[in-house]
Amino acid sequence: MEQLVSQIEGYKSEMSSFIANDEKQVEEFRIKYLGTKGIVKAIMGEMKNVAADQKKQAGQLLNEFRLFTENLYETLKQAASGTEVAAAGTDLSLPGDPAPLGSRHPITLMRNRIVSIFQRLGFAVAEGPEIEDDWHNFGALNLPAHHPARDMQDTFYIQQNPDWVLRTHTSSVQIREMEKGKLPIRMLMPGRVYRNETVSARSHCFFHQVEGLYIDENVSFADLKQTLYFFVKEMYGKDVKVRFRPSYFPFTEPSAEMDVTCMICGGSGCNICKKTGWVEILGCGMVHPNVLTNCGIDPNKYSGFAFGLGIERPAMLKYDVNDLRLFSENDIRFLRQFTAAT
Ligand SMILES: [Zn+2]
Repeated sequence: MEQLVSQIEGYKSEMSSFIANDEKQVEEFRIKYLGTKGIVKAIMGEMKNVAADQKKQAGQLLNEFRLFTENLYETLKQAASGTEVAAAGTDLSLPGDPAPLGSRHPITLMRNRIVSIFQRLGFAVAEGPEIEDDWHNFGALNLPAHHPARDMQDTFYIQQNPDWVLRTHTSSVQIREMEKGKLPIRMLMPGRVYRNETVSARSHCFFHQVEGLYIDENVSFADLKQTLYFFVKEMYGKDVKVRFRPSYFPFTEPSAEMDVTCMICGGSGCNICKKTGWVEILGCGMVHPNVLTNCGIDPNKYSGFAFGLGIERPAMLKYDVNDLRLFSENDIRFLRQFTAAT
């Protein structure tokens, strides 16, 4: 009796794992288990070997087994014929449903464009945290506590720890790269930055920057200018004119801002360039010796330049976007207009 039970369990699990993909395989199942020389018949024949007092129990068991097999056979049959109907009813010449393709965000497109130009000059990309400590965002960048130039940027401080800020520039990533001590450095740092400014068509509490850093022996201002000339020609075309204006940043000395001829009016003066014919596109300068020292780099041996530009402004000019807020509102009608080709 026990032998019978274990035999039946064995066949049940064997049957349950039987896979029938078409009617031929269903028929194989029927012959193997339900045929005249099939397993169910054979097991039924075991009845004569069962002791008289166990016949009733064995009979129930065998009947149950037969029903189990028949049900499974019906299920397999239906499944197999179902697939056949579906296959026959399918018109393979019908066009497929195309999966809707998304598009890249205009800020991403502009970021990739800027990065790809500098990559051709051998710049690699580095990223860093958006929540920074005071040292990486200010201190190491020659902005010690109470330095008046800290007021140039309205900073968001983290309530739980006033030593933490939402980074106000991607220059903090420059510090992290320099601290690694692997020289020379030729890095680009794209990313999102935060400032406590009123949200309007022209300013936002967060925006994007790409910063560049080049540190090696004998790097001069001439290298800085040539690098940026290359960038501008690639970005805005061969005919664009460039000018450098002296400026002030605590972390560079000397510092400059770079303007290009207005790409909207070509230099004759319009609203975008405030009638000057020039558009400011980036800030730059030679890395301040204090910054190098703060990061453990010998300023007598090494020198370097850094530059930083916003991504929103060139994206607005290129795609003719007149409101900064559109970039972060996630309006699908707005975002759908941008493709990788543009
Ligand atoms: Zn203009």
